[in-house]
Amino acid sequence: MRLRKYRELVRFPLMNTNEQSLSQKQNTFDGARKLITSTGLVLALCGLLTASRTNAANNDTPVTQPASRLVAPADPKEAAAFQEALEYLSHSAKAREIISYLQNCDTSCKVVFEFAPSEATGLPSDGFVRQEHAIYWIPDWGFRWNHGFASRKQTAAVALLHEMGHAYHAATDPARYERDCKPYSDAAQRNLWTSPEEKRTIKEIENVVSKELNEPLTDRHNWTGVWADHYKTLGPKSTVERKGSRADDSAFSNFGNN
Ligand SMILES: [Zn+2]
Repeated sequence: MRLRKYRELVRFPLMNTNEQSLSQKQNTFDGARKLITSTGLVLALCGLLTASRTNAANNDTPVTQPASRLVAPADPKEAAAFQEALEYLSHSAKAREIISYLQNCDTSCKVVFEFAPSEATGLPSDGFVRQEHAIYWIPDWGFRWNHGFASRKQTAAVALLHEMGHAYHAATDPARYERDCKPYSDAAQRNLWTSPEEKRTIKEIENVVSKELNEPLTDRHNWTGVWADHYKTLGPKSTVERKGSRADDSAFSNFGNN
């Protein structure tokens, strides 16, 4: 989760919080995202779901696994955007490791082209929702921030990879994931990294991938007090701002239609 609190966010409508309990501590939400209910396009990636339970219950029944758990969404534009992100990320060895694991593990996880159900902040967000086995991701929503006088821009693809990092952690060590999702009790650590899970995901996965892709590294998860915001890009691997639109304008809801 990335608590990116900044002035633009307050204009976003609050998320509908009645379906997904905001107190679910095992979920990780990254960044504020808006709530437009889009097409609900879901893509089956891999991750953590019921197959392991099924397998355990049917030990003697061989379970055939597809070569890849990656299933393209029905919407061709969303499928293309997701594929474009994967291809871009595959230039990073670390990203290949994470993606490959998620593609081949025996449980499933989906990628949803929507904002995540929000946590207590009520802000729209990227996110990994463990209870849904879902990654929420918007393919043309980049993140940027100021570092001194310099502007840093991250692609939406790296944001996707960050969420995959959470899914990877939850799948490989569920007990640790749950433990690590609890916010730091130490205020200084909490104000910078939120939780051990976020710190680990950024330092051990996101930044490793960013370095390999020549993207900027981040030194925090909580952006309170730092100028930062999301911006609409030309696509998953782009850091070019799409002119005439903002992450919170009406055009944003038209992804897939333009
Ligand atoms: Zn996160």
